[in-house]
Amino acid sequence: MIKLEIGHEVELEYGGRAAITGIIGKGIHDIVYIASYNGTQWALKWYDIDKLDDPEKMLKNLKDNVSDGAPNNKFMWPKYITKKYSDGSFGFLMEMKPESFEYLVDILKGYKIVNEPETGRANKKNVRFSSLFAMTASALNIVNAFRKLHKAEKTYQYLDDNGFFINADTGAILVGGCDHIVRNGDAKALKGGMPGYMAPELVKGVACPDINTDRYTLAASLFKLLFRGDPLEGRKVVNDICLTEEEILRHYGEDALFVYDPNDDSNRPVRGIHDSVMKFWETYPDYIKEVFTKAFTDGLNDPSKRVDESEWQSVLTRLRAEVIQCPMCGRTNFARFFDKADHKTYKCTNCREEIPTLEMSHHKWRTPVFKGAKIYECDIYSDSNDFLTVVGEVVENKLRPGVFGIKNCS
Ligand SMILES: [Zn+2]
Repeated sequence: MIKLEIGHEVELEYGGRAAITGIIGKGIHDIVYIASYNGTQWALKWYDIDKLDDPEKMLKNLKDNVSDGAPNNKFMWPKYITKKYSDGSFGFLMEMKPESFEYLVDILKGYKIVNEPETGRANKKNVRFSSLFAMTASALNIVNAFRKLHKAEKTYQYLDDNGFFINADTGAILVGGCDHIVRNGDAKALKGGMPGYMAPELVKGVACPDINTDRYTLAASLFKLLFRGDPLEGRKVVNDICLTEEEILRHYGEDALFVYDPNDDSNRPVRGIHDSVMKFWETYPDYIKEVFTKAFTDGLNDPSKRVDESEWQSVLTRLRAEVIQCPMCGRTNFARFFDKADHKTYKCTNCREEIPTLEMSHHKWRTPVFKGAKIYECDIYSDSNDFLTVVGEVVENKLRPGVFGIKNCS
């Protein structure tokens, strides 16, 4: 692999040159640089071709992706492919990650390291969702990205901690690592991958990436986002003190076991190591725990039993709707942490304010309504997948404070 230096220029396939102006980071198979092309800054992903299973296949796949185009504008899709170097190295340009989006890995850690521009000193900066609304929105947006990808008949070869960029204030997402996306059922052109995101059959090397392997990846991504840990890393894994590559593959492949498998407790989270997972397992309502249990027990080794995007969307829209912000004291939490005055009314445990609920014809649960609560298209139409379009918002009557109504936003 030829390493690029600052000032170095790479030729693009369709003409022009991109000049290297900086470095963003290193991946398993590549280095990502900042490059200037046509007066704009781009990210240049430059492969270490020795780490690719089949560089020619990778290049062909890139060309297919460039000509097919992105499933939608949330995918940071390969735009311009470079010419090959004399040793066969190549790369491509894609858009730069906007400043307002965080790496998924930083959200999972809860912080990022920022270098002060003037002194170069490294500072630790917290990276946290501004609200439970933003967190649940990001989970829904990830589900939707998989839906769009599958609609375009594409799947991931594998995904890793840098696969998503997330706006922690709004929950908006952008999809990174789009060069890892292949046409459904195509063999992998990349060696290895990140076991924590890969379906066991991919870890074992007995399958090609397809929509079902992606459904495992989707469940793993959502578990990491909601529970801040790995669904398969518990006592069994920790007991192997020095994990060799072979053992890691065993834990994520042949011997994979969900940490909360109801029929086998040998891989439970370990206090002091997996505290986040233990804490959040106590936090989420049962329907969330049930869907993850299904995803990582029935769906672990049987690809046909994995949770699909519609089911995730259904439980996550409920979770979003059940984030209550008390209109009186501002306390914000999942509905299960509010008292029940009766089966139609929640009660704030802090200020005793009552929060009424609405019954939607196709939901089996009641939607809490409070000032600012939003009603989405999928809440009112049983055949709608649209979890983004707001059709109604609970507003307070300006002339009569304390009187609420639903504003029609459609
Ligand atoms: Zn309150």
